[in-house]
Amino acid sequence: MAATVIDGKAVSATIRAEVHEQSELLKGERGITPGLAFILVGENPASQSYVRSKGQACEEMGFHSVTERLPATTSQDELLELIRRFNSDPAIHGILVQLPLPTHIDEQKIIEAIDYRKDVDGFHPVNVGRLVIGLDCLKPCTPAGVQELLMRSGNDPAGKHVVIVGRSNIVGKPVLNLLLQKQRGANAVVTVAHTGAKDLTTYVRQGDVVIAAIGKAEAIHGSMLKPGCVVIDVGINRIPDPSAKSGSRLVGDVHFASASEVASAITPVPGGVGPMTIAMLMKNTLRAAQGGIYR
Ligand code: NAP
Repeated sequence: MAATVIDGKAVSATIRAEVHEQSELLKGERGITPGLAFILVGENPASQSYVRSKGQACEEMGFHSVTERLPATTSQDELLELIRRFNSDPAIHGILVQLPLPTHIDEQKIIEAIDYRKDVDGFHPVNVGRLVIGLDCLKPCTPAGVQELLMRSGNDPAGKHVVIVGRSNIVGKPVLNLLLQKQRGANAVVTVAHTGAKDLTTYVRQGDVVIAAIGKAEAIHGSMLKPGCVVIDVGINRIPDPSAKSGSRLVGDVHFASASEVASAITPVPGGVGPMTIAMLMKNTLRAAQGGIYR
């Protein structure tokens, strides 16, 4: 039986509509317009395209947004100075430094320089720590998007065995920390597999929910899955495809055709987790503007 396809575009459109509505309320009732500052260092085309899409989303939400485009030769001190300026700007509630940064800049230093109350990427150690101990915080966007997709597609992870493949700081670990909490939208039993696993299938086969964040095209095949499981594919990989006009196409970390014969529900790539990331960034910016997260 073919799996139900979880429509990330539709879920993200719903979240964006909710954020827009609450943002209008915030403006009307308290005179606050959510403001987001983007900092882009260098000419990386993928980063430029991400920042453009995020800027368009701000426009759609009616947010105030500023984009600072800096040359690749910008020094770490100059970047730190700009962050200090946005930290003390009351019209700016969120600061996003697009990663990766040029190699002469220490990314961790930059992340830690952002006021954690404006850290809409959820990467600051204060937010990471609060996430681990189950306190409210600005949550990293892609992992929070995974949790929302599960909940809004009727696949509450509570009591399920969730198997995450990948342990990066931006996806695998925060997804673990979100789904492990004794909280609504979580309370799962979570296993995290990585390259240390001797036989990946042994772990993946146990998952009622499998979350793939590997960065390897179609690495998880349907034959590795437990029948009826739910598959969330975070991966975005470009592979050659001579039949496509561009000569390539995007695929996930899961082999979609075989997995959708075994799973009960699955996210597509593109159109699954991808659109959720920007929606959650908009939600974080709204929450930062509303205040009250860090009492
Ligand atoms: P990453 O930093 O490269 O981490 C990959 C993880 O997968 C590592 O923990 C690695 O294990 C593990 N891994 C790699 N090969 C494996 C294998 N054969 N068996 C078991 N584990 C394996 O990647 P990431 O930043 O987490 O991103 C993962 C994927 O998500 C990428 O395709 C990326 O493009 C995509 N992504 C999408 C979004 C979105 O908005 N949808 C956002 C972020 C990332 P080790 O730790 O042992 O090396």
